[in-house]
Amino acid sequence: MKKPKIVIVGAGYGGLMTTVRLQKLVGVNEADIVLINKNDYHYETTWLHEASAGTLHHDRVRYDIRDVIDRSKVDFVQDTVVEIKKEEKKVILEKGEVEYDYLVIALGGEPETFGIKGLKEYAFGITNVNSSRQLREHIEYQFATYNMEEEKNDNRLVIVVGGAGFTGIEFLGELTNRIPELCHEYDVDSHKVKILCVEAAPTVLPGFDPELVNYAVSQLERKGVEFLIGTAIKECTPNGIIVAKGEEEPREIKAETVVWAAGVRGNSIIEKSGFEAMRGRVKVQPDLRVPGFDDVFIIGDSSLVINEEINRPYPPTAQIAMQQGEVVARNIAALVRGKQDLETFTFDNKGTVCSLGHDDAIGVVFGKKVTGAKASFMKKVVDNRSLYMIGGAGLVLKKGKFNVF
Ligand code: FAD
Repeated sequence: MKKPKIVIVGAGYGGLMTTVRLQKLVGVNEADIVLINKNDYHYETTWLHEASAGTLHHDRVRYDIRDVIDRSKVDFVQDTVVEIKKEEKKVILEKGEVEYDYLVIALGGEPETFGIKGLKEYAFGITNVNSSRQLREHIEYQFATYNMEEEKNDNRLVIVVGGAGFTGIEFLGELTNRIPELCHEYDVDSHKVKILCVEAAPTVLPGFDPELVNYAVSQLERKGVEFLIGTAIKECTPNGIIVAKGEEEPREIKAETVVWAAGVRGNSIIEKSGFEAMRGRVKVQPDLRVPGFDDVFIIGDSSLVINEEINRPYPPTAQIAMQQGEVVARNIAALVRGKQDLETFTFDNKGTVCSLGHDDAIGVVFGKKVTGAKASFMKKVVDNRSLYMIGGAGLVLKKGKFNVF
């Protein structure tokens, strides 16, 4: 009998977790496993703010996919997915196509720009290794160039971060640690540097405990961040941004660096392939399959799972993507063995920690609020745990974070 072919697209948190669990659960005689990813490396998306600010080298946030998969069981293909032909059970790649019996879509998310003019063209993103490397280089270039020009352009030293959610705040934490180093390196007066965080919502870190939010805001303000809350970015231009607060007249803020960190949508491949989606995210069944397509699972940032307690979608996180990966692996192993009774996914929230630089953080862990060095230590535990779950102790020793303060 022909062995079923399991194809996993995307080797981020969700896809890699599915793969390493499946390679243990399914024997080589039972199924073929194919993993497809754009790059030959996996990157820790949750560490990209560090690579973007330049506080951690981008090589520290990535590792070779082949080092963590069992190559005798998994066929790794480095290629880019262009479209999924679900009726024909085929994945179209830039350099070919692959048929599947079971498909796991784990392609992650993309920045949501809400149609704001100029953001795609002029703002930087924190989305992958390439964008992080480009942002770090750009900021460094502004500092390096500042003293080279006869007529000083102070806008070179203005950095705007759009969005005071998780990504924006974590990036600001790193950036405020990096700025003094850049000032020192390029002989720039630190008083000339301006860091602005523009957020349309009425609060920083919506959904977080207000006491922790106050802590985060005062720590970042102390390090020079100016918050413009309840203020919407209306447009991004080559010279900066246009903002408006309520009924006030729109005004321009000149800045040579604008970073957009204010929203995630599902991967555009989802809509291009004709899946019914909300902002690129597919509302999956409790067993994580796509309604109407029993051979297709979607996990991670391109999936949408409702938190029944508040009847709203869970925010997309690495934590949820990894837990989904574990369930999908078990469900596919069951299907391969002819079982039809699949496991239901339930999110087990282990807590959230938001870093404010390598030495500070806020969070709720096992229901308890933590701040400062204790929270920062917890953040490193969380970061090392995700390495451990994918690549075991060896990967933690190679890539883990051990600097306690
Ligand atoms: P990803 O991990 O993003 O992986 C997607 C993979 O698909 C990548 O390898 C990519 O290269 C590949 N891919 C994409 N398109 C294609 C294509 N067309 N063809 C082939 N391959 C493709 N979450 C938390 O839980 N805790 C945190 O502390 C946290 N901090 C964050 C900090 C930052 C700065 C950011 C940006 C996000 C943070 N998140 C955090 C969110 C978390 O990173 C995401 O929710 C998580 O990465 C989603 O996992 P995923 O498996 O869906 O996708």
